[in-house]
Amino acid sequence: MTQETSDLPEGLHAETYAVREAVARSSYGEHSEALFLTSSFVQHDCESAARRFAKEEPGYTYTRTANPTVASFEQRLAKMEGTECAVATATGMAAILLVALTVLKAGDHVIASQSMFGSTMKLLGSEMARFGVETSFVAQTDTAAWKAAVRSNTRLLFAETPTNPLTDLCDIAALADIAHGAGALLAVDNSFASPVLQRPIAFGADLIVHSGTKLIDGQGRVMAGAVCGTGKLVDGVMGTFLRSGGLNLSPFNAWVVLKGLETLALRVKAESAAALELATWLETHPKVARVHYPGLASHPQHELAMRQQSGMGGTVLAFDVVGTTPEQLRANAFHVIDRTRVCSVTANLGDVKTTITHPASTSHGRLTEEQRQAAGVKQGLIRISVGLEHMDDLKADLLRGLDTLQ
Ligand SMILES: *Cc1c(COP(=O)(O)O)cnc(C)c1O
Repeated sequence: MTQETSDLPEGLHAETYAVREAVARSSYGEHSEALFLTSSFVQHDCESAARRFAKEEPGYTYTRTANPTVASFEQRLAKMEGTECAVATATGMAAILLVALTVLKAGDHVIASQSMFGSTMKLLGSEMARFGVETSFVAQTDTAAWKAAVRSNTRLLFAETPTNPLTDLCDIAALADIAHGAGALLAVDNSFASPVLQRPIAFGADLIVHSGTKLIDGQGRVMAGAVCGTGKLVDGVMGTFLRSGGLNLSPFNAWVVLKGLETLALRVKAESAAALELATWLETHPKVARVHYPGLASHPQHELAMRQQSGMGGTVLAFDVVGTTPEQLRANAFHVIDRTRVCSVTANLGDVKTTITHPASTSHGRLTEEQRQAAGVKQGLIRISVGLEHMDDLKADLLRGLDTLQ
């Protein structure tokens, strides 16, 4: 919802936009972007207020309609994603809801992966069904299955790559072709890769959604979300809906994630390099059965990952501990996780603090054992979102449990 443009020259690099793009400074000349923690804006007089409310004159009126701090975050993220426009939302799920409520109507059909973020599956598969929208869930990596699921009323393909926790990819360019051939849009959830590693727009995606709660904040403080795309769709259609629907990001949270974008590239590159080192090392441990990480040559989609994710594997990895029965696998995974003293046992990811989780009993705990098997989430699986601690300390932390496994 851009009201003003910054006074930067055109054609700068993403790194420059990450620290510079924002709405114009206020009359105080603040160097760090100001936090406009205000719900409304005072008008000069009735005539100018009337013009602003009628959109005949630029200017802020009410924060649900537009706020300079929120606008700075939107403009900066759009520049980094390479899209015309972005609209900020209260959470990542609010961003996905915004896409669903503006792109879809009763009678429409959606195709999505069966291994997406759990709340996204619930939102598209169950909640939207009450409004007459049907969603088909297909195998994440099987492009032919996405194509075969197309119907005459398919309006949206929704992809998330790489996935949580198994780091499966989908081929964004191939899905964009399928979507466009069917007259549908392709939306990509880019929360896991961030624009630092992956710019879905360059592969033909129409909409990019973010949970700003993850890598963009990067320090586990606030919840935030965004949708990026064309001015026509994102500002025109989604911005208009958001201004009435009130899915807004608060100015305070916008300020936090605006600052998060300034260090996003440094953090994501450092955390990805650390994740690769940790994944490579885990592959050699006798108590580790398998490591899932796109940066490893052993990952079935390693080549696609290198092409699509700027040559890096991302900040999240998962691994299976050894064991035979589901009970033993679960006990072994719990043993490794509970012996850690540096890593945090917490569900968030993309934080500078390394987090470790047992997906089968947490994020995927509500699935039936059958659904979990289909998703490939075994009882012995451990997910790690790698932060910025010293590598030796992270390895030692994991060895406390791995070296004492029976
Ligand atoms: C966390 C997450 C979401 C939801 O974001 P919230 O900010 O928690 O609402 C959506 N997609 C992915 C891939 C996520 O990791």
